Amino acid sequence: MSRNFSTEYHQILDAIDQIDPVKYGYTRNHIDGAVTYLSPYIARGVINTRMVLEKMIEKGYRLGQMETFVKELCWRDYFQRVAQAKNINTDIRQEQSMVTNRAIPVAVVNANTGINAIDKAIRDLYASGYMHNHCRMYTAFLTCNLAQSHWLQPARWMYHHLLDGDWASNACSWQWVAGTKNGKKYYANQENINKYTGSNQTGTYLNKSYEELYPAEIPAALTEYATLNLSTNLPTTNFEDWHADWPTFIYNYYNLDPLWHKNENGNRVLLLDPNVFSDYPVSDKCISFILELSKNIPGIQIFTGSFEELKQQHPAGDYYFKEHPLNSGYQGKEEPRDWIAPDVNGYYPSFFAYWKKAEKSILKWMEN
Ligand SMILES: Cc1cc2nc3c(=O)[nH]c(=O)nc-3n(C[C@H](O)[C@H](O)[C@H](O)COP(=O)(O)OP(=O)(O)OC[C@H]3O[C@@H](n4cnc5c(N)ncnc54)[C@H](O)[C@@H]3O)c2cc1C
Repeated sequence: MSRNFSTEYHQILDAIDQIDPVKYGYTRNHIDGAVTYLSPYIARGVINTRMVLEKMIEKGYRLGQMETFVKELCWRDYFQRVAQAKNINTDIRQEQSMVTNRAIPVAVVNANTGINAIDKAIRDLYASGYMHNHCRMYTAFLTCNLAQSHWLQPARWMYHHLLDGDWASNACSWQWVAGTKNGKKYYANQENINKYTGSNQTGTYLNKSYEELYPAEIPAALTEYATLNLSTNLPTTNFEDWHADWPTFIYNYYNLDPLWHKNENGNRVLLLDPNVFSDYPVSDKCISFILELSKNIPGIQIFTGSFEELKQQHPAGDYYFKEHPLNSGYQGKEEPRDWIAPDVNGYYPSFFAYWKKAEKSILKWMEN
């Protein structure tokens, strides 16, 4: 059965309360492990990584007990920093090698790769908007490193369907698998997939040792490719109640934080810029999800158009927004997002280098 993601704010906070960061550490790689399913809320800016860690600290967990969990939260922040500093739409550190196409295998789109656990994960992605991290890695590996597709179009396909679609985490993770981020491609064989997905499949094109897999011929099942024409269906503007003497708070696909400027008067606008969604298209399921999440923000109204168009129609008053690399043409008072280690910014070529600094910042925070 596919997972259902509540959009009620109090249930989202309850889910943070339920996290077992210790169990997480030794089970997270398994698809039935104690993962949090919080990414759709973190990616949509309803909650943030700092809030999650704060709760764990409040509960008395020590860093040593929950290091794996904290590191994963920091992977998220790390990729956000990479996206602030670099153009992540091109190969970050080195060109992807062994590329024969800039499309996506039809078998991946149709959940028909012949690898049962991956096919099920893709079907579940379509049904629920979620995929476990390991299945994302397997899907990207099959696509980039076996079917020899360049990572960009397949990443756009996965982003389109994920409720947690976050271009920084998405593009950087695909690049990590394809070897353009750190120079090493990720490989998995059937034994690995069986181990972490609880499947028991044999006789597939992945039933090989790693030496036999790399570099392999493209398996026959993956040799047909498609170019997808992805688009977004946006709702129409529903925006009537405007107070010229109030400030305006801009919410968008990456900021649906109900606590942001909560107790102030303000025009609250969910800005859906068609240009951004044309570059980064998302499914109807993702749009329904954000519309439901936005109901946690009293008085929010929808404006479908660009920031410039909004400002032209309503020039008066101050505009506030949270910083994000995809905010196209925003003007006004930019406020920072919340980070686990706000003082660790700029570009770090490796997560390890970032973590060394972030860990110090976290320990300092925990001491106070
Ligand atoms: C090919 C590929 C594409 C991905 N695309 C996205 C994406 O579009 N959006 C997205 O949020 N994550 C993406 N990830 C990272 C990761 O798979 C998801 O964040 C995680 O699976 C979300 O599920 P969860 O909330 O149950 O995570 P948990 O395992 O419970 O982790 C807790 C939180 O830590 C962060 N996190 C955990 N693992 C990672 C990771 N490997 N990289 C970055 N952050 C992490 C997430 O914010 C997550 O919510 C991608 C990974 C791969 C390999």
